[in-house]
Amino acid sequence: MSIKTVGVIGCGLMGSGIAQVSAAAGFRTIVREVNQGALDKGLSRMRKFLDGGVEKGKMTAEARDKTWGNLMGVTDFEAMGDCDLIIEAIIENLDEKTAAYQALDKVVGDHAIFTSNTSSLCVTELAAKTKRPDRFGGLHFFNPVPLMKLVEVVRGLSTSDATHAALMDYSRAIGKEPITAPDKPGFIVNRLLVPYLLDAIRCYERGLGTIEDIDNGMKLGCGHPMGPLTLLDFVGLDTTYYIANIMFDEYKEPMFAAPPLLKRMVLAGKLGRKSGEGFYKY
Ligand code: NAD
Repeated sequence: MSIKTVGVIGCGLMGSGIAQVSAAAGFRTIVREVNQGALDKGLSRMRKFLDGGVEKGKMTAEARDKTWGNLMGVTDFEAMGDCDLIIEAIIENLDEKTAAYQALDKVVGDHAIFTSNTSSLCVTELAAKTKRPDRFGGLHFFNPVPLMKLVEVVRGLSTSDATHAALMDYSRAIGKEPITAPDKPGFIVNRLLVPYLLDAIRCYERGLGTIEDIDNGMKLGCGHPMGPLTLLDFVGLDTTYYIANIMFDEYKEPMFAAPPLLKRMVLAGKLGRKSGEGFYKY
């Protein structure tokens, strides 16, 4: 595999995790943020995770230092010049992502592959915003990135076989288990998960059971690590509502339609853990 240097764009929740696992796997990793404050915040999130790993005996101090040594934080695009792979993990906004690709296309070598960690945008459309649509794909990680094993490698209409193979190889090299997903809203995991979560809200809304009973039913009866309403609070009700609407727009199938209660909880600011209240109080 010819990927040696990885550029991660955005050092937020996902970008910091992606940069961390990439550096831990031995890749020279350059992570770019919009300003020094945002960069420091992302770097300290990584440092805390790594130090915590050493304290808990899950990682040696030597491995932590090696990972840290492979990481470089920057606020300009020029420093990305010799990257072989770009993983964009900035806010979920087409115009912002387009502007980042255009800046990168000017400084990054033609051989390099560009990817997006987008959850909901069309990968084929993102690819078309670059000068390298055949060397573009989705790399959809899961939160928290250092702990979740899965990566969905998304093939856009113009993603080449070589690009797809390189992204599968890279995902394995950072210790993840990649699956190939189509460029359709929700890819594979959210295509299955979102209708299930929406249905759990519909069940609650229609009086099938209490919040606790619905959650315990799926936890204890199906061996799920958490019930659907707990999971909704964890993911964020606003995020679920946003993704459900995108999926409904594309598929026009009732299973993707947001239940009235979800919309109202979002309007009331009951977004789950992040706002202090969702189906549960925190
Ligand atoms: P976040 O808000 O935590 O982080 C985004 C970061 O990008 C911010 O720190 C912001 O300052 C930075 N940024 C914005 N424009 C930038 C630019 N031009 N260059 C560099 N940095 C820039 O968001 P997040 O949750 O990490 O999500 C990032 C992406 O990952 C989104 O596309 C989202 O859909 C996707 N995603 C999120 C999750 C999740 O669970 N949060 C899961 C899978 C995929």
